[in-house]
Amino acid sequence: MILPIYVYGQPVLRKVAQDITPDYPELKELIQNMYDTLDNSNGVGLAAPQIGKAIRLVVIDLDVLKEDFPEYAGYRKTFINAHVLGFEENPETETLEEGCLSIPGLSENVTRPKKVHVKYMDEDFNEHDEWVEGYAARVMQHEFDHLEGKVYTDRVNALRKNLIGGKLKNIVKGKFRCAYKTKVAR
Ligand code: ZN
Repeated sequence: MILPIYVYGQPVLRKVAQDITPDYPELKELIQNMYDTLDNSNGVGLAAPQIGKAIRLVVIDLDVLKEDFPEYAGYRKTFINAHVLGFEENPETETLEEGCLSIPGLSENVTRPKKVHVKYMDEDFNEHDEWVEGYAARVMQHEFDHLEGKVYTDRVNALRKNLIGGKLKNIVKGKFRCAYKTKVAR
C-alpha cells in the first residue's frame, strides 16, 4: 500500500525517532508499505518519519542505480534501530547533490564524510555493526539523519539556506507539485 509522504513543516520530521522491538504492531506490513511508497515515488531511500512514524526504521533501494553503480544490483535493504556511530577522525568528505521526498522540487549540494560507521538490525533483528562507504554511505547518512529529526537542508551552507528559504516556506504551505501523494503540515 502506498502511503502519503509527510512534507517539510510536519513536526514528525523534527522528532528524534525511537528504537522498536520485534513485536512492533504489523511491522512486516509497514516495511512492505514503505517499499511500495518508495517505489512509487522513484526515491532511493525512505525513513519512517517521512510516513509519519517517529521510529528508527529505514528502507533503501539502490538497485535503481545499477546502471551507474553495478555493485548495487539487487540492493534493497531494511534498517531497523539504525544509528550512526561515528566517522573517521578528520574524514575525507565529498560534496554531492541531494534531494528528499519530503522536500519536493528542491535539490542542493551537501558535504558529508565519505565513510560512516553504523549499527542497525535487519528484518530478522540480526545486529549489524559496519563501516560503509560509497553511494550507500551517502544515502544512509541522509536517511539516518531523518531519525535524528534532521533534513539535508539543515546541512547546506548559510548562503544557500537564505536562497532556498522562500521555497521551503512554500513547501510548508503546500505550494509545490509532485507526482506522489503527500501530507502537508497544517
Ligand atoms: Zn530525505
